[in-house]
Amino acid sequence: MTYSILIVDDDMAIKESVEKYLKLLKYEVRTALNAEEALEMLASFNVDIVLTDIMMQGMDGLELTRKIKESYNSDVMVMTGYSAEYSYEKAVQAGASDFIFKPFRFEELNLRINRVLREASFKKERLTLLKKLRKLAITDALTGLYNSRHFFSQIKIEIDRYKRYSRALSLLILDIDLFKDYNDTWGHLDGDKVLMGIGKTIKPCMRSMDTAYRYGGEEFIVLLPETGLQKACVVGERIKNKIGAQIFEPEPGIKASITVSVGATELVKGEDFKSFIRRADKALYKSKNTGRNKLTYLVA
Ligand code: GH3
Ligand code: MG
Ligand code: MG
Repeated sequence: MTYSILIVDDDMAIKESVEKYLKLLKYEVRTALNAEEALEMLASFNVDIVLTDIMMQGMDGLELTRKIKESYNSDVMVMTGYSAEYSYEKAVQAGASDFIFKPFRFEELNLRINRVLREASFKKERLTLLKKLRKLAITDALTGLYNSRHFFSQIKIEIDRYKRYSRALSLLILDIDLFKDYNDTWGHLDGDKVLMGIGKTIKPCMRSMDTAYRYGGEEFIVLLPETGLQKACVVGERIKNKIGAQIFEPEPGIKASITVSVGATELVKGEDFKSFIRRADKALYKSKNTGRNKLTYLVA
């Protein structure tokens, strides 16, 4: 990987000698004579490290460092003479990753550049890992849908949005019919395959703002923002039919299928999430008690 370095210095001699040295070390090197020119370059090129003088005509190196840290991911290293009234502390406060006194040995500069690059790469790794962990924390491992923990945070957010903008909000609860029998007949692992299959079936039935969750063992929830009950029932029917049409093969040559029962409801003014979920649950149990493989809706 080639790293890119932008040298900012109004001293031509220093700028040119550092440029020559860094090019020998195979860095991609750009140069700027002042802070304004450096900012223009940052807007058009990806730069890993900005190596800037502190004392410059116009905007000084500390101000440039602050501006870079506001808008770019680049690391900043500042260079200054021993006599200058700039401290390491000030540079770090402005956001610099390192500080080097002029005149410096090129070997020292290279060591410092390497350290800054190494730290930047660790930071990037940490961020990627954090992102993955955040995703894992809200995902159900078996189905790839969101988990119930995420459901409880999202439903509160959606109810707040409903209150603020008075947009409709609907909820579907799905429960597999006689799933115990399926497990007892084909085994738990094949039951798990059914759960995975349902996850895959639900996803393409939703619009971008809808979210689906594995609510419990064999229960699923779909949260439909900006959707009235009638539309929610259409989505629920579609999901139910697609799940029912899915063929599983618990053993070679043996075809099996399952059905789901669905409860649907729409949020009403002044209601909290508990009563909203309870009504969807009631609708689901009505589906169960009146023959299964059907959708029932309840109005508050
Ligand atoms: P009903 O139509 O009334 O919902 O009948 P049911 O058999 O689906 O309901 P019941 O609540 O009696 O049983 C639920 C079953 O779901 C029992 C349990 O083994 C199964 N189950 C729950 N979580 C999992 C899971 O993670 N994997 C598998 N394979 N089965 C699960
Ligand atoms: Mg159940
Ligand atoms: Mg069930």
